[in-house]
Amino acid sequence: MDFIDLKTQYRQIEPQLRKRIDAVLAHGQFIMGPEIGELEKKLAEYVGVKHCISCSNGTDALLMPLMAKGIGPGDAIFTTPFTFVATAEVISLLGATPVFVDIDPVTFNIDPAKLEQAIGGFQKGERPTSKHPAGLKAKGIIGVDIFGLPADYDAINRVAAKHGLFVIEDAAQSFGGMYKGRMAGSLAEIAATSFFPAKPLGCYGDGGAVFTNDDELAAIMRSIRIHGQGSDKYDNVRVGINGRLDTLQAAILLTKLEIFDKEIKDRQEVAARYSEGLKGIVKTPSIPDGYRSAWAQYSVLSENRDQLIEKLKKAGIPTAIYYPKPLHLQTAYKILGYKKGDFPVAEEIAEKIFSLPMHGYLNEKNQTHISFCLKQPSKP
Ligand SMILES: *Cc1c(COP(=O)(O)O)cnc(C)c1O
Repeated sequence: MDFIDLKTQYRQIEPQLRKRIDAVLAHGQFIMGPEIGELEKKLAEYVGVKHCISCSNGTDALLMPLMAKGIGPGDAIFTTPFTFVATAEVISLLGATPVFVDIDPVTFNIDPAKLEQAIGGFQKGERPTSKHPAGLKAKGIIGVDIFGLPADYDAINRVAAKHGLFVIEDAAQSFGGMYKGRMAGSLAEIAATSFFPAKPLGCYGDGGAVFTNDDELAAIMRSIRIHGQGSDKYDNVRVGINGRLDTLQAAILLTKLEIFDKEIKDRQEVAARYSEGLKGIVKTPSIPDGYRSAWAQYSVLSENRDQLIEKLKKAGIPTAIYYPKPLHLQTAYKILGYKKGDFPVAEEIAEKIFSLPMHGYLNEKNQTHISFCLKQPSKP
């Protein structure tokens, strides 16, 4: 059994995929070829925003908006410790400082009430640790849509507006998700997504995109994406990056986008079957009213995580732990001076969580087998 089955998907789209790839090989515009503009237009329409800027990966999709906002040393960005390291890494890469805020125990996303409290305290001069100097200025918030479920952006945007901060939506896992009738990728001033192969919409390599309705930010990010390009290739008006998406990856994404809605629908069914079959065995995910998860991961909680993972392993069923260690306890972030106990919810979830195989092609038979294996008594 595959954790994420990309082979079945490939078999279903192979002829269309080959046609699209052949077209790129024939025209030979491997960098910024016509498929890039075509994809950006379709993605912007899908998400319901004015601008889509495709780019090299989800990490650069987070980096470019921070660069466009001029973030650097002395700036503080609030985010969750329960995420993939890239969310905080981009803040640090620019010399700015991540300030972590604990998560909600049900959604595993940043807790807006704690965010409000943390920013309020910060504005009054309180600092989370002694390593966060008094001179730091609060600038923005990165909300993360963990496992495909959007964070509570009405609340996050409200707190941000009150304190004059910008908001970036890290929609790396939530492309295809929804919040109160709006698509993930449209829920904050700027959103970033990833097309890493295992994400809900994945290409065959690295890829990402940024979304915004703001014309000026979009123009700056388009420039940053190509070495801070100005009016022509050798006019550089700002410091940028080599952040382009390959034309071949755009061709692959255009093909996969055709079946994406169906896959998202199928993922809802897979998740519903899991939640039914796993009742009483593990704590299954709860999706609040008005939300739709893109189900990047189907993650459950158990006090006996290690035993359950072992049972599945013996039956040849793969699992994964996202994430075993919250960012405030990572070696790379020792420098921020956090300690165990600072974010009790994130720490507890990290000890109990694990993820089961999840993709739109997972059938009922396999899911029944997974629940069956989990229900077996552990051998001493
Ligand atoms: C995958 C991921 C990223 C980074 O995306 P890449 O394409 O791997 O660079 C950023 N944030 C989150 C939450 C992710 O899951």
